[in-house]
Amino acid sequence: MTTQANADNLLLPVGADSEGFASSHAFAVGVDTLDEICVGGVWAQGAGALIESVNPATSEVFATLHGATVEDVDVAVAAGLAAIEESGWARKLPHERAAVLYRIGATIEANADRIATLQTQDTGKTLKETRALAMSAAATFRFTASALETMEDTLTPPRGDYLSISTYEPIGVVAAITPWNSPIASDAQKVAPALAAGNAVVIKPPVWAPWVSLLLARICDEAGLPAGLLSVLPGPGRTVGDALARHRDVGKVSFTGGTSTGRQLGRIAADKIMPITLELGGKSPTIVFSDADLDQAVAGVLYGIFSSSGQSCIAGSRVFIQRDIYDAVLARLVEGAKALRLGPGTDAATQVAPLVAHAHRDFVEKMVDDARRAGAQILCGGARPIEPELQQGAYYLPTIIAGVSNSDLICQEEVFGPVAVVLPFEDEADLISQANDSVFGLACGIWTSDYRRAWRVARAVAAGTIWINTYKQFSIATPFSGIKESGLGTEKGRDGIRSYMRQKSIYVDLSGAPLPWASA
Ligand code: NAD
Repeated sequence: MTTQANADNLLLPVGADSEGFASSHAFAVGVDTLDEICVGGVWAQGAGALIESVNPATSEVFATLHGATVEDVDVAVAAGLAAIEESGWARKLPHERAAVLYRIGATIEANADRIATLQTQDTGKTLKETRALAMSAAATFRFTASALETMEDTLTPPRGDYLSISTYEPIGVVAAITPWNSPIASDAQKVAPALAAGNAVVIKPPVWAPWVSLLLARICDEAGLPAGLLSVLPGPGRTVGDALARHRDVGKVSFTGGTSTGRQLGRIAADKIMPITLELGGKSPTIVFSDADLDQAVAGVLYGIFSSSGQSCIAGSRVFIQRDIYDAVLARLVEGAKALRLGPGTDAATQVAPLVAHAHRDFVEKMVDDARRAGAQILCGGARPIEPELQQGAYYLPTIIAGVSNSDLICQEEVFGPVAVVLPFEDEADLISQANDSVFGLACGIWTSDYRRAWRVARAVAAGTIWINTYKQFSIATPFSGIKESGLGTEKGRDGIRSYMRQKSIYVDLSGAPLPWASA
C-alpha cells in the first residue's frame, strides 16, 4: 500500500512549493503569546466570549482566548476602509502590492514549523499535513503575487470611433469566513487574492481553530502589510460571522464551510445584492473500474477518504466498485483500513489522527450508529479505538460501510469523518446515474486504465474537480469550485484575483464628432 507516499503530495501545489524559497527572506514572528485579537490594526485582548482551545489528541485545554464582539465588526470594517485610503493600498501599482505578498509568503515559510505545531495542537492533524498546509499557504501568496504582476486589463473591440477598455477595481472590505479543517490554507486562499486585488480583509476564523489566523495576521504585520488592512475576529458564526456578512460596508463574502451555513449567507448576499463565493460540502464518488491498476486504486481510495481523518470537503466518501471486482476490492479496502495507524498528529508514524473535537467525533459516531440501526453492514471500524493511550483523544476508527443503497442517508449526507460507504455498480450508465444522484458536486476520483472511458466518465459526472488515477492532488494554478450544493463561484487560478474585483467598462471618444442630438 502506498498511502504514506501519497501523503507527500497532500495539498502541495504541484511543482510549486517544495523548494526552500525563504532562507534569505526569513522573518521570525517575534510574538510568543497569541491571545490577542486584531481589530482594525490594533492588537488587544478581546471582549467577546471565552474560547477554550482543546488539543483533541489529549483533551487538554492548551490555550484560551477572548473572541471578538459584534461591535468589533464595525471597528474592523471602518478601519479596513480607512486603511485602504490612508495607505493608498488600492492605488498602489501591482508590483508594489505584489512585493508585500511575496514577503508574506516568505514569512509564512520561515514560520512554517510554528504554524504546523499550532495547527496540529488546535485541529489534531498530523504535523506532516499541517506543515504541507503551511507551505501551500506560502505558495499561494507567491503565486498570487506573480499573477498580480502579470495581470492585464482588456481592450475590447470597438464598434465605432472610440476606445473601450474593461478594467477591474477593488471591492473595498471583504469578509473571509473560514472552516476549521485546513485553517492556514483556507485563509491564504482568500486573503492573498483579496489583498492582491486592493481590498481590506476581515477574517472570521472558526471557533474550533482560531489560532493560525491570528498568527497569519502577525505574519502580515511582520511582512509590512499596512495596519488595518487585515483584521481577525474569532467568535461564534451566528453572531460575529452573521454581523460581518450583514455589515453595510462589507462588499463581498468569501465563505468556506458547510452547505447549510452557505445557504444562510447566500440569503444575506441576496438581500444586499452582494457578490459571494461559497465553497461548501461534498459527498464525492471514487470509482474503481474492473480494468484499474488495483494496487494503485486501493491505496488511492484509502487515502482519498481516510487522510485528514476524512475531515476534508473533497473526501472520497462514496466508493463505487464495478460488480465483478466488488468482493475482492472491498476485502482489500477493509484490510487496508484496519492496518492504518491511529495516533497523535505529533507522531511521524500516524496516518489517522484524532478528529478536530470530541463533539465532532460524537457526531460522526452517531451517523454511523444510525446507519447501523438502519441495516447497514459495518465491515470495519464503527467504534472508538480500544488502546489505552488513545482513550483521551477524539479518535474514531477508519470505518467501511456496505450493504447500503445510494439513496440511504449515510450515502447522501456529509459525515466529515473517516467513514466510507461502498457500493457496487454494473456498467458506466449505472455508475453515472448513481454518482450523480447526490445534492453535492465537489469532487470525483476515477480509477481505470482506459483513458477514453476516463474521459467519458469525467465529462458525465457532475463535480467541480475530477481526478483520474489519482486523488487529492492540488495546484494553486488550477481553479477550484463546487457545483450543485457544493458551491458557487471559483477560487484559485490566475483569475482568482478577479473574483475580488469589480469590473468597469470605460469608453473614450476618438473622433470628436457630435452625437446625433448635438445639433438639435
Ligand atoms: P460551518 O459552516 O459550521 O462553519 C464555517 C464558518 O462559518 C465558521 O467560521 C463558522 O463560525 C461560520 N459560521 C457558522 N454559522 C454562521 C452564520 N450563521 N453566519 C456567518 N458565519 C457562520 O463549517 P465547519 O464545520 O467549520 O466546516 C466543515 C464544513 O466545511 C464541511 O461541510 C466541509 O465540507 C466544508 N468545507 C468545504 C470546503 C470547500 O472548499 N468546498 C473546504 C473545507 C471545508
